[in-house]
Amino acid sequence: MSLERPAAYQAYLDQLTATEPTAGAFPMRSGAGDATAVAARLQELRDDLIALSHTVHANPELGFEERIAAAAVGELVGRHGYDIEVGVFGLDTAFRARAGTGRPRVAIIAEYDALPGIGHGCGHNIICAAGVGGFLAAAALVQEVAGSVVLIGTPAEEGGSGKELIARAGGFDEVDCAMMVHPAGSASAACVFLGMRQVEVSFQGLDAHASAFPYMGRNALDACVSAYSMISQLRQHMLPEDRIHGVITDGGDKPNIVPDHAAAMYFVRSLRVDTLVELTERMDAIFHGAAAGTGTVAHPRWDVNPLILPVRSNMALANRFVMAQAEWGKPMPLRAPVPSGSTDMGNVSVRVPSIHPKIAVAPRSVPMHTAEFAGHAVSPRADEGILDGAYGLAVTALDYLADEALRDDVASEFAAAGGVVDVVALDR
Ligand SMILES: [Zn+2]
Ligand SMILES: [Zn+2]
Repeated sequence: MSLERPAAYQAYLDQLTATEPTAGAFPMRSGAGDATAVAARLQELRDDLIALSHTVHANPELGFEERIAAAAVGELVGRHGYDIEVGVFGLDTAFRARAGTGRPRVAIIAEYDALPGIGHGCGHNIICAAGVGGFLAAAALVQEVAGSVVLIGTPAEEGGSGKELIARAGGFDEVDCAMMVHPAGSASAACVFLGMRQVEVSFQGLDAHASAFPYMGRNALDACVSAYSMISQLRQHMLPEDRIHGVITDGGDKPNIVPDHAAAMYFVRSLRVDTLVELTERMDAIFHGAAAGTGTVAHPRWDVNPLILPVRSNMALANRFVMAQAEWGKPMPLRAPVPSGSTDMGNVSVRVPSIHPKIAVAPRSVPMHTAEFAGHAVSPRADEGILDGAYGLAVTALDYLADEALRDDVASEFAAAGGVVDVVALDR
């Protein structure tokens, strides 16, 4: 039995992501962010940023427990002369540092949580170092433009909806736009990230001796399995980009006891907010239908962690990021052709104009959330990726602060895309 990853799909992925970088397709930046000074500052910061990335990588911490990472950022940012508060927004491992004064204000975001078992298989150590580098480089020059830049450290991206919790605590209220980078196997400035919500469903039945009195029982595991197969049938009728994946977390105790309890957990992902809501309703109907057919009762619990919304990439900002990368010598495409996973950055992106570009640090065919990707997250190429991301963030932030026409474009695009979404109202 072979456990090799399928070669045909690797070839498919290579073809999908083999878009030629848009070198020269964009004019040079028109903003006033001082590109040369940013590059010089990053060269000074280089060793510190790589050391930070390696420290975070060597000490993988799960969401809300990222104490080593937060302390390492606190030490580094403090040593460079900026006040940093660790333990803000009601979260022990969230942090915030500020430079400059007043509005406009750009938020640069850092993530630093790891995955159970495989450590930094999503490369958040690179996000952390790139975010800190982007902040420190922009901070050194913010007095020459206007307004301010704030570094916001957001815990628990992997399933904890840390950014939604911070948003609800007011973390993005005084911010005009937000940006971060994420490492990947291919680069693009505006990627498709699906909205996602979680459901934990339990089924309540009646127990009975499975041989002597089966007719006295009602089988909760049957309800769970029926729901699982109806969800497989639902997949034919979803948007091609949408995803539902689940596991059965409780299948009863012993074969000779009719299970009176069973449970499953599903992630439901969709391209749009309205189709995510529609899928939620279809799933609920399936749970209750499976329960009705088996004489059991379903208890779906949605949004145990707050739901996360699709990322609404601000193309005016994404364009600036692409220009900055071309200028830095790492041309990248503006758009990615395939949808990716989900990120709580989606929830920020419907509150303030945002970007979430991907920086290439690994071969295209290496899937994220694997031990293999974790290995690439401390490679020399990943270390370069820190500088690539930091440069793009710093220059785009400074451009935004310096260029009023850009700020107008960013704001009008955000309004045309629907403006602020009331995320809390969508919670169930
Ligand atoms: Zn991830
Ligand atoms: Zn990630």
